[in-house]
Amino acid sequence: MEITITKRTQLKPKPDENNLVFGTEFTDHMFIMDYTEGKGWHDAKIVPYGPIELSPAAMVLHYAQEVFEGMKAYKTPEGDIQFFRPMENFARMNRSNARMCIPQIDEEFVFDALKQLVALDQDWVPHAPGTSLYIRPFVFATDPFIGVRTSLHYKFIIILSPVGAYYATGLQPARMHVEDIYSRTVVGGTGEAKCGGNYAGGLAAQEKAHDEGFEQILWLDGAERKYIEEVGTSNIFFKVDGKFITPELHGTILPGITRKSVIELLRSWGEEVIERRITIDEFVDMYHKGQIEEVFGTGTAAVVSPIGGLEYQGEDMSFNNGEIGEYTQKIYDTLFGMQTGTVEDDLGWIVK
Ligand code: PMP
Repeated sequence: MEITITKRTQLKPKPDENNLVFGTEFTDHMFIMDYTEGKGWHDAKIVPYGPIELSPAAMVLHYAQEVFEGMKAYKTPEGDIQFFRPMENFARMNRSNARMCIPQIDEEFVFDALKQLVALDQDWVPHAPGTSLYIRPFVFATDPFIGVRTSLHYKFIIILSPVGAYYATGLQPARMHVEDIYSRTVVGGTGEAKCGGNYAGGLAAQEKAHDEGFEQILWLDGAERKYIEEVGTSNIFFKVDGKFITPELHGTILPGITRKSVIELLRSWGEEVIERRITIDEFVDMYHKGQIEEVFGTGTAAVVSPIGGLEYQGEDMSFNNGEIGEYTQKIYDTLFGMQTGTVEDDLGWIVK
């Protein structure tokens, strides 16, 4: 399929790279293609970034048949632009699509479209330390129809947003609330798909945690609120007695690409990483025995987020004297260095 390109005649002014607020600025162009049942994907185009026309009856607005991804492009000190494991994101998008009854996309084609879009908007990829270009591919149901069924029409769009350093002054440990009333997802639900509904359903707990002075939520499983699952929009890791533990993927947890990379990186360093179910009670017990050495979240936005404290049923636990753990820092430095081109990519994760 050919991609038609319509360039913006008047380019937008670029924001100040040193004051970028996450997710608020968008580049000059976007990629769009449409899907029609029986015809497949068609009308692939790059057009000026701007509002889209949608019927008020568009099914996504009522029944949330939608999937999205989040990935980044980085500028190296030499001025090259590079992606971090981009095909992992498109593969995950197709797994999410399958779960939400959305047609599959051609992963190679969509990556090619992304490369053309980023090339066109390359002056928007910031180069100040710690900055990057956040990439948001998404797909949603557009049939103008009231009634619950699978849509026959979809739109796939990619938009780009220059973003600042997540931690402007270096990694900062955050305090989290262990949520034991609300849950994010259940076995058989949509937790492992990256669909909007999962996030809408999490807002009430997030608001409650913010009101109580916590930065994020540690989610427990939906059936019993017993097992540790994820933290905010990140996967979670613990360093316990010299070994790393992360909850195993069993359908309710988003399979993070950073999670996968951290596991592979630690193993490449000869460290032991165990993927298993872990209960909050077992965690609290290990905490009381002084075995918890480091706790951190992993995700595209921040790469690694140190967790300095957890509150569970009125008990405040704090780790590593509120300081950044040795491995938390080392993993961050290695992954972020690879992404931005200052650390050798020994694992073949970078696509220029
Ligand atoms: N869990 C959830 C619920 C998320 O939204 C994200 C962010 N995509 C992650 C984990 C981390 O995934 P990744 O490392 O692919 O960004």
